[in-house]
Amino acid sequence: MNNLDTEKLYENFILPTYRRTPVCFVKGKGSRLWDLEGREYLDFFPGWAVSGLGHSHPAVVSAIKDQAAKLIHVSNNFLNPKQARLGEAISENSFPCRVFFANSGAEANEGAIKFARRYGSAAGRYEIITMNDSFHGRTLATITATAQTKYQEGFAPLPEGFTYAPFNDIQALKAKIGPKTIAIMLEPIQGEGGINVASREYLKEVRRLCDEKDLLLVLDEVQTGMGRTGKMFAYQHYGIEPDLMTLAKSLGGGVPIGALVVNRRVKGEVLTPGTHASTFGGNPLACAAALAVFKTIRKDRLLRNAEVMGDYLRSKLEGLKAKYGFIKEVRGMGVMLGVELTVPGAKIAEACLAEGLLINCTHEKVLRIVPAITISKTLLNKGLRILDKVLAGVGK
Ligand SMILES: *Cc1c(COP(=O)(O)O)cnc(C)c1O
Repeated sequence: MNNLDTEKLYENFILPTYRRTPVCFVKGKGSRLWDLEGREYLDFFPGWAVSGLGHSHPAVVSAIKDQAAKLIHVSNNFLNPKQARLGEAISENSFPCRVFFANSGAEANEGAIKFARRYGSAAGRYEIITMNDSFHGRTLATITATAQTKYQEGFAPLPEGFTYAPFNDIQALKAKIGPKTIAIMLEPIQGEGGINVASREYLKEVRRLCDEKDLLLVLDEVQTGMGRTGKMFAYQHYGIEPDLMTLAKSLGGGVPIGALVVNRRVKGEVLTPGTHASTFGGNPLACAAALAVFKTIRKDRLLRNAEVMGDYLRSKLEGLKAKYGFIKEVRGMGVMLGVELTVPGAKIAEACLAEGLLINCTHEKVLRIVPAITISKTLLNKGLRILDKVLAGVGK
């Protein structure tokens, strides 16, 4: 089957919810991908930041094979040692916590929203403040939490109980807090919103406000988690802890899994038996894959690699900024970097693909570069050469 055959099948049988580039990838290894025609690509946006260890990491592959041969799924009404051990691994790598497993980022956030509402229900508090330009997923509640109208158009009526504040603006946030407020939810680095980094003072002050007003601080680490920023979780750069944290994307090394992580400091038994559930959530296969991801990050010292490679990539991107007047700013943390342009970026991302390099453009003018945390300097240089070449052609 070639690209054309596949495209025909899509036209006939798949809903057109995505703009798809007519390339069929059939094989991946680390930061490299191959398409049906055998053409090789370098991937600086592996599966929308899902394949954090690179494609088909051998440790993940072997954990999946092993577990699949033993037991793929068992219902959550029985004990599952892999799920228990993954809860322990998350706790050991973050803060004392208990975890609910789901299958995606949106579901993890949906869980956080439900948790917050139940937590506040006795006091009649249900309102959640989220940030302009945020992204929290595509379910009805999470598109409402996502303060960008483009994701909400045509889906009214949206659930009540959400209000929005500008990111990194503590005064504006304070003004939004009212008697019905129960939680503040944000991404430490807004991914979809253009790689906007929360300032240290801001996040510390948000934490202080939450403590003062008995609000839950919900950090969406779906994209920033699992070593992406050079620490296991981005909040660890800030000297604070969230009350609730959500994970997904690279947690399972490519296998769908999401997690709602609830800090032990949060009082009260909130999601008691029968109040929330997921049929697939945290099944043995997904948890085995996620356990392999944690193990590999530790064993191969990948947090250090993300930090060192991130610094290197960033300095090289700064170099491109000095060279090209249409680059406005380079920002981010670890290997989660954004290059803001004064010109539209989609054509640049397309041109990079034509040259064999995958990057993303978000928020119209921000090139999003989030390579696997296993990336090497050699491959970074290779990608940077392609990017430089494409940028040199801009406006010509
Ligand atoms: C991708 C993403 C989500 C949604 O995750 P899905 O698995 O697509 O539901 C939520 N929050 C953030 C920050 C994300 O990057």
